[in-house]
Amino acid sequence: MRDDIKSWNRLPAVGHQHVLDIPARTARLPLPPGAETCIPFGNGRSYGDVCLNPDAAVIRTRALDHMIAFDREHGRITCEGGVILADILELVTPQGWFPPVTPGTRFVTVGGCVANDVHGKNHHDTGSFGNHVRSFELLRSDGQRLTCSAEQNADWFAATIGGLGLTGLITQVTFDLLPVANPFMVTQAYRFSTLDEFWHLNARAEREWPYTVAWIDCTRQSGRGILFAGQHAPPQAELPVWKSRHRTVPVDLPFSCINSLSLKAFNEVYYRQKLPRDRYVAHYAPYFYPLDAIENWNRIYGTRGFYQYQCVLPPHVSADGVAELMRQIARSGMGSFLAVLKTFGTRPAMGTLSFPRPGATLALDFPNMGEKTLQLLNRLDSIVASAGGALYPAKDARMSGAMFRRGFPQWEKMLPFIDPRFSSGFWRRVNKPEG
Ligand SMILES: Cc1cc2nc3c(=O)[nH]c(=O)nc-3n(C[C@H](O)[C@H](O)[C@H](O)COP(=O)(O)OP(=O)(O)OC[C@H]3O[C@@H](n4cnc5c(N)ncnc54)[C@H](O)[C@@H]3O)c2cc1C
Repeated sequence: MRDDIKSWNRLPAVGHQHVLDIPARTARLPLPPGAETCIPFGNGRSYGDVCLNPDAAVIRTRALDHMIAFDREHGRITCEGGVILADILELVTPQGWFPPVTPGTRFVTVGGCVANDVHGKNHHDTGSFGNHVRSFELLRSDGQRLTCSAEQNADWFAATIGGLGLTGLITQVTFDLLPVANPFMVTQAYRFSTLDEFWHLNARAEREWPYTVAWIDCTRQSGRGILFAGQHAPPQAELPVWKSRHRTVPVDLPFSCINSLSLKAFNEVYYRQKLPRDRYVAHYAPYFYPLDAIENWNRIYGTRGFYQYQCVLPPHVSADGVAELMRQIARSGMGSFLAVLKTFGTRPAMGTLSFPRPGATLALDFPNMGEKTLQLLNRLDSIVASAGGALYPAKDARMSGAMFRRGFPQWEKMLPFIDPRFSSGFWRRVNKPEG
């Protein structure tokens, strides 16, 4: 049994019977023996078990790392499913293009971006990754290769975008890029001292800026924080580079260094940091990927790992719902340095199981303190469920089947498209009969 395949938060810690690699996009799918199931594993940047398959098999896709075609004139790229965004950025940004949507790390594969239909700071403007996918090839366990797009095999297209890797393995993807003049961002930071202030600021910022996201102090019920707005810099902008340093957490700590004291201290310092009064220019890397500068930052939570909790609440209950979540979290004394609040726009997602939908999304890390943490997360679930919201499967290691079905009422539509040889820890958990 192999125990070296982990997702980013190191939870759940599970073993796999087989760790297989697909060597090339034209190769047959490597399948485990007998009736054992498998799940594609991209770069393991999910938090939880959508990319894990306890006691069964994973198929690693990182050998599918070839660029296939790049139309520089129209900004369209075709690459293999195991290519990571960092490589795409390196290729296309000097040539005036940028990924249309990027999550908060560039170390994700394109297959993973499709399978979780990932969103970025520009969701209110641009939608999620799947909105920009033109086509992909899906390799099924029976050897079938399906070309999927909005026009061809459209039902497979919808089932696979946000389909959590369950419909087959994505060997290659064609998607549209965003034109940019240079690798820089014009950004502005706004401090807010209450959640009410955030909603006002955010409504205005969303009209003016394509990228917005707020850091929020989860140790305070008031919901103070900083809203970061951004846009790609125009050609004539003054371009002083905001220098970022590469840091690393060198070893696995046997314990988490996050406790209520260190949390409060960090949040205080972060909130009070000196902010530029006006717009400033920064390279895209520190703007989009501040955490990528701290290699292995997940180690600060120690070997017990951590839970990430990301929910979305519908627009009409967002303000009350977020306030209630913040109250519960602040009271618990648990929570993270990295609490993020953002509003999603109205562009419909392409996937049957896509997570992004109109409303507000809150994401936080919680060090794994066993039952105490799980009880808090259950309390948060009740707030999310009664608000008619949903949890993000890509950031989940513990949601119940009932919570999943409430958040994804279309889930049964997926069933005919799931590959009979594919399964995951996540999928078995949310489909387990509940007593
Ligand atoms: C620091 C950090 C910040 C993040 N910020 C965001 C954010 O802002 N927005 C957001 O949406 N997400 C965010 N995420 C989550 C991350 O973007 C997603 O979990 C992403 O899907 C991970 O990609 P991966 O290549 O590592 O895939 P994995 O985690 O390995 O797998 C993810 C899913 O994709 C499937 N999959 C992978 N490759 C293929 C393939 N070739 N064919 C079929 N299925 C496949 C897997 O089976 C699994 O279900 C963040 C993660 C981190 C660590």
